[in-house]
Amino acid sequence: MPDIACVNGRFGPLADAVVSVEDRGFQFGDGVYEVIRTYRGRPFAVDEHLARLERSAQALQLSLGPSKAQWGTLIEEGLRLSDLPETKIYLQITRGQAPRDHPFPVPLLPTTVLTFRELHPLDVLVRQTGVQAILLEDIRWGRCDIKSVNLLPNVLARQRAKEAGVFEAILLRDGVVTEGSVSNVMVVRNGTIQTAPEGPRILSGVTRAKVLELAKKEGIPVAETMVRREDLLGASEVFLTGTTVEVLPVVRVDGQAIGSAVPGPIAQLLSRRWEALVG
Ligand code: PMP
Repeated sequence: MPDIACVNGRFGPLADAVVSVEDRGFQFGDGVYEVIRTYRGRPFAVDEHLARLERSAQALQLSLGPSKAQWGTLIEEGLRLSDLPETKIYLQITRGQAPRDHPFPVPLLPTTVLTFRELHPLDVLVRQTGVQAILLEDIRWGRCDIKSVNLLPNVLARQRAKEAGVFEAILLRDGVVTEGSVSNVMVVRNGTIQTAPEGPRILSGVTRAKVLELAKKEGIPVAETMVRREDLLGASEVFLTGTTVEVLPVVRVDGQAIGSAVPGPIAQLLSRRWEALVG
């Protein structure tokens, strides 16, 4: 089977998968999600993603539905059925279907969805030459650590990036870099990697944590600290991390060159270490 979905434990073709128009994910964006990818057909960092799914669900008093072990089994089953070269696995839990009313319905019966689609890796050339980004005001809510399906500000930001002909929108709150619309942001200043600390202003990226570990192993100093707009623009390197972007150098921001507008040595080194880790 090619692209498939699993709705409340039932597998079938993605094109046939449906949920009710009264699902609270549709009505209120009342749900959480995860994106996991495969490398050589095996799902990567499943434990970390399921742990974050559980944290996101708990923060919204949302039931995880299946246990973490059951989610793991569903992932394996979906991969077996879809049998794609590389797969982008999407997991979603919403607070279920109920007549539209803001308070939580009783009893709670979450809707759980998984989709399995072919993953098309980023063009190698894009990875080698780096990408461009724009800076935008971060207009999201105060709990960006929750991976909620309420992605409207992220959608608008990524659309602005697309219209500007660049890859990513890097978000600023009070002049301080939070993260990208779909990625975490790291800058290199005086040989140190600086990135926003974990907390309610950013999503704690699975890739972020692993890349920071790789950096420490290489003896590269890491500071989880506020990075101001001018620090980013004056940085020697900027790069993005994320499940789909992996380690991706940013060579221009708002049209301004970062360093000499080519991928820097630290981003390149970490990109190689990342390949070794996942390969
Ligand atoms: N921040 C945001 C807003 C994201 O959407 C993502 C992608 N999930 C990330 C950071 C990176 O997280 P991860 O490394 O876990 O994919």
